[in-house]
Amino acid sequence: MKQIKTSPMHSGSAFRRLMLLAGISGLSAIALGSSQNSVKALESRTQAMSWQGASFPVENFQGYTSPFGYRRSPDGGYNQEFHRGLDMAAPEGSYIRSWWAGKVVEISDDSACGTSVVIQSGEWVHIYCHMQGRVERDGSGRYISDRRGGLQVRENQAIAAGARIGRVGMTGRTTGPHLHWGLKYTGQWVDPALVLRAMYTEQGSQSVSSRP
Ligand SMILES: [Zn+2]
Repeated sequence: MKQIKTSPMHSGSAFRRLMLLAGISGLSAIALGSSQNSVKALESRTQAMSWQGASFPVENFQGYTSPFGYRRSPDGGYNQEFHRGLDMAAPEGSYIRSWWAGKVVEISDDSACGTSVVIQSGEWVHIYCHMQGRVERDGSGRYISDRRGGLQVRENQAIAAGARIGRVGMTGRTTGPHLHWGLKYTGQWVDPALVLRAMYTEQGSQSVSSRP
């Protein structure tokens, strides 16, 4: 995979302002759905930012199946849980692409998230769950191996924006094939839909969704 020397996430003060907004302002309010005003404010700000470098995170996208925020437990329980990401349905085997250039900071295959990759891009962290393959180890460390998908993703590997990092699977706690995509800014969960909306606005829905 191609290495990207510097993450574009660090450049530009406008981008920094967005990150501050995304990380600090009213995210819990957004999650609770109790403050439409802060949602609107964040949306209008994100629309002014440059998202040209961002990639839609999954190929063959079919639809959003579960939003960010509180929901009933998918196993039918009565307890509410906080859903820390956005579920995006796609046929099993569809390739998953890194949202932004960064570095693999964690791989795992033994949690509810299933086979998963965590990528850090500056102060953002993006998380991809329920992928195919499993964690293996060799002389140079741990990596996720998805042989049928022709993929190997190693810890500490540099990842380009839009690079294929896995395929949609059914590992971990899931009732159907989908990508669970999580986003954190300075350690706080962010609603990925806000970022996607801004990307669509700037790039145009066609160019984002029809990306090969
Ligand atoms: Zn999910």
